[in-house]
Order: sequence, then C-alpha cells, then structure tokens
Amino acid sequence: MRSATFGFDFVARLVTNLSLFISNTVCCKDQKTHDTTDPAYILELRRNFLEYLKNKLDHDSNEAQTISVTQSPGCQVSITKYEFLEYVFWPAIRDLTSAIKCNGMQRNMFRLYDIDNIFLSGFSVEAKKETSDFLERIVIKTLSEALSIPRSRICLSDASGKEALLGAAYYGNYPETFTERVSRRSYAIQVCGYKRQKFEIDIEKNISEMKLKGGKNVKNDIYNEEAANAYSDLDKPVKLYYQSSYNSSSKDSNSLRNPEDVTRLISRGDKITEHNQMHGIVKRFYAEEECIVYASKSISHIILY
Ligand SMILES: [Zn+2]
Repeated sequence: MRSATFGFDFVARLVTNLSLFISNTVCCKDQKTHDTTDPAYILELRRNFLEYLKNKLDHDSNEAQTISVTQSPGCQVSITKYEFLEYVFWPAIRDLTSAIKCNGMQRNMFRLYDIDNIFLSGFSVEAKKETSDFLERIVIKTLSEALSIPRSRICLSDASGKEALLGAAYYGNYPETFTERVSRRSYAIQVCGYKRQKFEIDIEKNISEMKLKGGKNVKNDIYNEEAANAYSDLDKPVKLYYQSSYNSSSKDSNSLRNPEDVTRLISRGDKITEHNQMHGIVKRFYAEEECIVYASKSISHIILY
C-alpha cells in the first residue's frame, strides 16, 4: 500500500468559481463593491454557498435557484443546475483530478505500480443525499477518465472525514502493510483572524485596576484576565499575512492569507532535522490590528492501493 498526502481545498475552489460566475452576471446594483480580494466578502459567500449546497441545490429540479451573495437585500444570484455544474462544479472537479494526477505523477505512483484500487476519502460536501451521490458519481467518472482506470476500481469511503486519522491509526497498528509512505509529513495550516468583541464593563474595570495596582506578575495577570474573557467578533474578520523567512513583512497578495488558503508547514522533500522533531516548526503570521486567530490543520488525503 502506498499513500500520499497533499492539500486541496475543494470548497474554496467551488467558491472561487462561483465568485467568478457572479462577476459575470448581475446580482445587485452594488456589484462593484464585491471585492473578490476581501476576505470578509469571500467568507460570506462561502457561508451562503454552503447553505445553498446543504439545503437548496436540488439535482432533480431544472429551475433556476437563488444563492445569496451578501446580506444586503436583493444581493443574490440566480443559477440553474446546469450553470452550477458547468461553471462551478466541473472546473473544480477538473482541478481536483488534475491535482491528484499531478501529485501521483510527481511521486511516481502511477508509473511504477499497477494500481488495484483507489480509495477516495475526505470528499464530502454537505448536501441532500441525491445531490451528493450525484456529485460523487461525477467525481469518480472524471477521475477514472483522467487516470485511465476503470470506475469500478475507485472506491468511496464511508468514514466521512476521519480517514486521515483512521489511516494514521492503521499505520500505527500495522506498519508492515505499508510498503511506503510517499509524503510522510506534508502538513499544512489554515488561519483566520477576527476582531475581539469589546470587554464587558466589569472586565474593563478589573483590568484597569490591575494596571493601577501594578506588581510583579501584573503582565501575566492582565493577560490571563484578557484571555479568559476575549471573544471574537465573527462579523469582523481581520486580514492576516504570512511572514516568510526571506521576505519579512510584505503585504502583497502572496502573503495575504484568506481563511481557505493553505499554508504549507512542511512540503515533500523538506529536510526535517532532529531539532525540528523536538521543537516543531515555527511559521509566523501577522495582522495589523489586534485580533483573535484560529488555526486549523488541514489535510487532504488520497490513498492508492
Ligand atoms: Zn450583489
């Protein structure tokens, strides 16, 4: 068994395509205000899109349906099932299959071995059962064409989202089953930041009293009080930038990190020193204003048998 890991945010790809579709149609009079580089806009669109996928997209219906673009009244786009497939779903599927193919080629997974089965895991968008079955069938069909492998050899997993975890556990229990782990540590991270909600009045009072009182541990005490009472304001996203080691504080589109962007912690081929093993790897992000940052480890997984 050979397994490879690489990052691919399928939903982000769908949202990008939808955003492009919206730019080419009319959603409302204020369309010029829809700044596709604004994380808040993309985040809102993503939320509305997932809502549409989950509750509205009906693959039995040929009538146009609406997706809200932003909260502003009247800001919505009308899309038919065919437009959705043509402009949003298909391009994302093509990107996904070519990413799988490209990663497999780079790692010599297809050339050196005859593949018995491909297990697709982690492919899940929350949608009505008929819709998600239909979307999955398209994925399998496209993948089988791209890789020239019969459809029957591509299997879906029903562990929904726990595949990487189960795979790691399986590797721990039966390491001899794996002939090779192609990329052992290609982990990535996603970050998003939000403004902090105002502290309650009594918390503010506590903090000012601590400042007045001073003392040896005052910094720690204030920090603890703030940390215990800080809540993020999800309606106020804050721009986060990645600080690369060679380009310390540029604010261009390369360093900007939208919530769906994946920042690689370790790529295939990176040397992992003993120091790294002991202390981990540090990546720096910065914001221009005070904010609360959430980070999530992101892994996409394909396993080839
Ligand atoms: Zn609009």
